[in-house]
Parts: sequence; C-alpha cells; structure tokens
Amino acid sequence: MSKMDVKPVITILPVGSVDPEILRHISRKLSEKFGLKCDVSEISYDVPKEAYSPLRRQYLASYFVQIAEFHARRTGALRVLSITDVNIYAPGLNFVFGEARIWGRGAVISLFMLRPEVYGDPPNFNLLVERAIKEAIHEIGHTFGLNHCSNPVCIMRFSNSIWDTDAKSEDFCEKCFNVLRRNIARALSDRG
Ligand SMILES: [Zn+2]
Ligand SMILES: [Zn+2]
Repeated sequence: MSKMDVKPVITILPVGSVDPEILRHISRKLSEKFGLKCDVSEISYDVPKEAYSPLRRQYLASYFVQIAEFHARRTGALRVLSITDVNIYAPGLNFVFGEARIWGRGAVISLFMLRPEVYGDPPNFNLLVERAIKEAIHEIGHTFGLNHCSNPVCIMRFSNSIWDTDAKSEDFCEKCFNVLRRNIARALSDRG
C-alpha cells in the first residue's frame, strides 16, 4: 500500500456538536455512492462565531465551506464535508440545507432544517439520516463538478424545500452519473 492510499479521500468534519451516529451513516453512504474511501474526522471544529448574524439568528454557510477547505489543505483529503447542527443561510435565501462550490474541495450541510420537528412532525431519526444523506451526496456531487439537474428524481436537482428533498431519490440520473465518473477519475489523477 502506498502512502497515498492511507489518506482519506472524503472526510466528514463535524463543526460544533453533531450526533456521531449520523456522521457514520453519512460516511458509509458517501463511500458507497462515490466509490471512494470516506471517514469521519476525529477532531471537530468550533462553530465560527464570526459567521453568526444576530439579526437573522443564523450562521453564514460560506464560513463552514471555508473551514472544510482549510481542513482539506491541512490533511491532504481530496474533499471535506463540514456537517453542523446550527441553522445556516446564504445571502438572498431564508436558509440553505447545504453549500458547495463547483470543483471546490470543501462543502457543508446543516441538519437543522432537515429535522422533522422543524415542520411540526414528530422526531424521526431514520428520516433525518435519509435527508442528511441526500444533501451530503448532492453537495459532494457539486465538488466533483456537477451542476443542478432538471431530472425530478436526480439527486442533483435543486431542493428549494424539504418536500423537494423528500421527493428526490439518493441516486444520480444516468447523465449526471456518467459526468461524475469521469470527473472523479480526473480529480484523482490531478491529485497525482
Ligand atoms: Zn445544489
Ligand atoms: Zn441528473
């Protein structure tokens, strides 16, 4: 085994306190979906105070993406996904489930707006995990160069609300899957 093989390709990074069982579920599914080694970081980062908007009582998502990118440079991971339990937003939007840059090394998802309780439904761990997995696959898809897709059940379709998230599958449509496969190969070879 070369030294390179030992490095995680995708790292799940808790920012603030996050249920470790949820992190493990996401890690397992990302590894399966992307065919890459994935693990959960043993260290976590604090929720960035400077990201907080007292007016909105939410945190600016881009800070969490920056933390993920910082962690990727620090550890040599190909991709890092920050996961937080605080409510995050992007300018012009009430909230976001997650954020990523196309071909960026870092991304974020928040569990906050995925919780059934937020919509007046009883807590449901399995549903929360299912939603978190979908959002995680979607954001990591962006980091491998995928844009939004118009196929209504494709995981790369934009979720405007939790109903959109629940309606889509956790799978890439054939078109996205083919682009993804090519782009992952490219990302791995660029890494050297
Ligand atoms: Zn998206
Ligand atoms: Zn698609």
